[in-house]
Amino acid sequence: MKRRTFLSLAAKATAAGAASTVFAAPNIIIAQRNIRWQMATSWPVSLDTIFGGAQIFAERVAAMTNGRFQITPEPAGKLAPALQVLDAVQQGSVPCGHTASYYYYGKSPVTALGTAIPFGMTLRQQNAWLYEGGGLKLLQDFYRQKFGVIQFPAGNTGAQMGGWFRKEIKTVDDLKGLKMRIPGLGGQVLTRLGVTVQNIPGGEIFQALQTGTVDAAEWVGPYDDEKLGLFKVAKFYYYPGWWEPAPTLEVEINLREWERLPKEYQEVIKTAAVEANMGMMARYDARNAAALKKLRDAGVQLRQYPKAIIDAAKKAADELYAEFSSKDADFRRIFAEWKKFKEETDSWFGLNEYAMESYLFGKM
Ligand code: CA
Repeated sequence: MKRRTFLSLAAKATAAGAASTVFAAPNIIIAQRNIRWQMATSWPVSLDTIFGGAQIFAERVAAMTNGRFQITPEPAGKLAPALQVLDAVQQGSVPCGHTASYYYYGKSPVTALGTAIPFGMTLRQQNAWLYEGGGLKLLQDFYRQKFGVIQFPAGNTGAQMGGWFRKEIKTVDDLKGLKMRIPGLGGQVLTRLGVTVQNIPGGEIFQALQTGTVDAAEWVGPYDDEKLGLFKVAKFYYYPGWWEPAPTLEVEINLREWERLPKEYQEVIKTAAVEANMGMMARYDARNAAALKKLRDAGVQLRQYPKAIIDAAKKAADELYAEFSSKDADFRRIFAEWKKFKEETDSWFGLNEYAMESYLFGKM
């Protein structure tokens, strides 16, 4: 500051009776370390909503640390295969990743609760459980102990669509023998209804559907699905995606790397993840309607799942949860808490939010 300006400010401050503030503590600059992290993701860059979740997170971390903490999200396959991000973070071959935890339910069915399970919670319930209902703490304690990883919700797609089919599905029998791309516990439920299930990374679904590796496939919803071009190889687009009412994507961080971070950077990560969690959902909500119109204009046939199929799926899902609970103590313990929270909040959402939305969206 130039001396003249300083004196002038001092004079003004004195005039205001606050001279002492002019000579108050100087700015304290704490020089934090420069840190560079690469981030493995499960997504192709072309999916700017879901890869965008990783980008929002990284951009906010950089902005809040004045560029000292740089995280670079890389597309699926570059640092780790799309469906092995948790493995890479667990092993420490990358410090962090952005992925869907239900890709790893083979390691433990608890991971599915971190993303979404069939007939699970809505977006509002999911966030309420994670942030205010003790859910995130339960899951973090589990990840810490089981994988040596800490994770934070960092994106959501909202209720997904029910996938693309070449032929109409009118009865439960029509599902039998079908080959379908569907991950997580939704795939387990459909297996019980006679579907042969595969999990295929997002960037490879179009080719699998085009070449007949699968007869049907689900990804997310109108915006992403239109980008993947799935409508070019299957015309029937089903809803709702009862297996994913509001899947959470997450940032996963190797625990040793996390513990070496300055406390301030840990707080920055928590805040940036919340921004990504909200930002991704806002992007989808802002873009899905226009994409759905484009799909309709391209001749896509929308179909609602017949209630008999959804009922059969619900029954199979409840049986699956009972089986996991009988075999796996961690799932039993965390699922019991999840279920209690869901049932409690169902009563509120089922009353007021449901009535409000029914009227607003022309269904009442
Ligand atoms: Ca999906």
